[in-house]
Amino acid sequence: MSYYQCPKCGGGDIYHGTELVSSSTGGGAIIGPENDLGFSPVVGVGGSRTQEQTVVKCKTCDINLGQKDIRYSKEELEQIEKEETERKEGILPLPLFLILFFGFLGLIIFVMTLS
Ligand SMILES: [Zn+2]
Repeated sequence: MSYYQCPKCGGGDIYHGTELVSSSTGGGAIIGPENDLGFSPVVGVGGSRTQEQTVVKCKTCDINLGQKDIRYSKEELEQIEKEETERKEGILPLPLFLILFFGFLGLIIFVMTLS
C-alpha cells in the first residue's frame, strides 16, 4: 500500500485536515468601451471565494503533504514500472505498421506500372 512520508521528519503519521483556501474567481478588471468623455471605465469583476479543502498533514510537524510525498511499496513500484514498459511497447508497433503499409503500397504501384 502507498503511504505518505513527511519530508521534514520522515514520519508516516498523517491526518486529513481541512484547510480554507481562497480562490480567485478570475477576471480582475475589465476595461469598458471608451465613452464620449474620452476615458474607459474600469469595471471590477469577480472576487475571491473561500473554499474548504481536505489536506493531508503530518501529525508531528503539521505541514501539508502532497503528491510528491507519497511513497510506494516495492510491489507497487514494480507494477508502475511494468505498466510503463507495456505502454512503451504498445506505441512501438505503429511505425512498423506504417513501414509495412507503405512498402506494400509501393509494391502495388510498382506492379501496376509494369503492366
Ligand atoms: Zn513531519
